Amino acid sequence: MRMRQVHLDFHTSEAIHPIGTRFSKEQFQQALKLGHVDSITVFSKCHHGWAYHPSEANVTHPGLSFDLLGAMIEAAHEIGVRTPVYLSAGLDERLAVRHPEWLIRERFSREGDLFTPGYHQLCLNTPYLDILLSQIEEVAARYDADGIFLDIVGVRECYCANCVAAAREQGIDPRDKSAMRPLWEQTYANYTSRVKETVHRHKPGLPIFHNGGHIRRGRRDLAHMNSHLELESLPTGGWGYDHFPLSARYAQTLGMPFLGMTGKFHTTWGEFGGYKHPNALRYEAALSLANGAACSIGDQLHPLGAMDEATYRLIGAAYAEVEAKEAWCRDAVNVADVALLSVEAAGTHQATGGHDSFTGDPDAGAVRMLLEGHILFDVVDLEADFSPYAVLILPDRIRINDAILAKLASFLAGGGRILATGESGLKPDGSGFALDLGVRHAGVNPFRPDYYHPQHPLASLQESAFIFYSEGQKVTLAEGGTELGKRENPYFNRDAFTFCSHQHTPNSGEYGGPGMVEHANGIYIAWNVFEDYASKGSLVLKETVLYALNRLLPEKTLRTNLPAQGVTTVQHQPDQKRYVHHSLYASPVKRGRNIEVIEDLLPIRGTTAELRISEPVTGVYLVPQMTPIDFRQQNGLVTYELPEWQCHQMVVLDYGQPEGN
Ligand SMILES: [Zn+2]
Repeated sequence: MRMRQVHLDFHTSEAIHPIGTRFSKEQFQQALKLGHVDSITVFSKCHHGWAYHPSEANVTHPGLSFDLLGAMIEAAHEIGVRTPVYLSAGLDERLAVRHPEWLIRERFSREGDLFTPGYHQLCLNTPYLDILLSQIEEVAARYDADGIFLDIVGVRECYCANCVAAAREQGIDPRDKSAMRPLWEQTYANYTSRVKETVHRHKPGLPIFHNGGHIRRGRRDLAHMNSHLELESLPTGGWGYDHFPLSARYAQTLGMPFLGMTGKFHTTWGEFGGYKHPNALRYEAALSLANGAACSIGDQLHPLGAMDEATYRLIGAAYAEVEAKEAWCRDAVNVADVALLSVEAAGTHQATGGHDSFTGDPDAGAVRMLLEGHILFDVVDLEADFSPYAVLILPDRIRINDAILAKLASFLAGGGRILATGESGLKPDGSGFALDLGVRHAGVNPFRPDYYHPQHPLASLQESAFIFYSEGQKVTLAEGGTELGKRENPYFNRDAFTFCSHQHTPNSGEYGGPGMVEHANGIYIAWNVFEDYASKGSLVLKETVLYALNRLLPEKTLRTNLPAQGVTTVQHQPDQKRYVHHSLYASPVKRGRNIEVIEDLLPIRGTTAELRISEPVTGVYLVPQMTPIDFRQQNGLVTYELPEWQCHQMVVLDYGQPEGN
């Protein structure tokens, strides 16, 4: 997989003409060189539905008078740049207005004003599918495409006439959503398999990716309908800076090649004239590398077809660095002590997504804490092998059915330990714990919010009783359990006739049972602390969880003194017989209503690292600088200090001759 990709959008209204008149091969090539780009996803068909080349399967944009797709491919290939080809699959506004009966129909119409500008999504269980396949086939047969990228697709709920008729034919009641789901799954699986068959008939093995904006954790079947994964995650486009690490730490466990896709925009796709600071792009590209991913940056070509020099200088600021670093990032395996079992993957709970005013998504809250705690981790699903990890986190909402219990029992038997929070560990119906964590269940705690009084030290806070906002479980100590902290009740819940002050009721000091308990199997915390952290980010939540994790992980692979906003990973390149320790630092700040901006990259001094590596280390040096640094290895612990660095620094630890030498 190419490491320095651009995803070139071109959604161009038919109301604009002429188009493409300022395209020039030399200028296109010049821009790619300026950007240090080695692959560019060019376009056959846009959301408006137009083709950008002569076509029998589609209609060429009325403002275009030449083969723009062919010209871009020729220009890129001449300088060794690859060209996967984009087709908008789910959106085709040209056909949507001609065939409204092919549109996805929602059960409860939220169409609003008919005259709101925007695209409308088509159902792939309609005659549109055959048209789309013929458009894809035309590209595969006629053009030297290095891959096919299909956009705006996924398993969709639909109540169009075709979906309803198909359901009734199969004896499914369309009113029953759970009965309809297999039909929607079937529509998507049929579409992806027919695309594969169509493309590979002409170009066997050509990479194909179906984009839905998110790789659903726990759905390996859907992931494997692609040849590789492109994690669309524009930090300023609504995804935020936390989405990519969460998504990447899962994707890397699947063993498929993958990339992280950001954008050059200040906000998101379609922002003509929008630019982010070069430092933001440098950091985002480095974050991909540190997570074992290739890079892709989104851009949109101007209707006249000239590449924007300012954009490619901006991209070049990031990609010149990627080019220098990529040899130490290819075919890397993440090193992790902790596995976070994703709530999304386990499917034991519908993530609240922040609709609850108290709490947010437990997976996101857990990843934020793990990043800030500099814990090496993977995000896993139920198909993952838990045995390589020392600790498994069951965040907030993992109820334990028989299948999960069997997996956990073998993990515990192998010496693994569990950190469970909130509802996690309970039986599916909530009637007590399925897992022995040294506590007995006494129901959902009647007080909310309430207080946690730790009986252990916190990293930076003094002894007190701390407000915990999320729902808690009332527990009592069972055999083998040791209380590490207690719950204290408020005087009462805030209510119309009993309320106190501006927010919630103060602590009455009354003992409310254990708040955190340790047991041979692990540690249990009696609140949904990760949801709480995703929503409110209170320091005590993180310090409580990290205290527990550090107890469970006496022999951590990595200790470093990076500041909280620093991100660290250790990637293993087994073929090269080396580990690569990544350190990153940037502080996104909120600007405007909901944009996270990175502008300043401050120098970081005095970063120390202590890495537990069993192989005898023969050399430690900075890359790409190739500067050796002093190190010591004693009892399997390699210690060293990084000289002052900025944004991203890699340290290589060699432990032998690479294979083939
Ligand atoms: Zn439908």
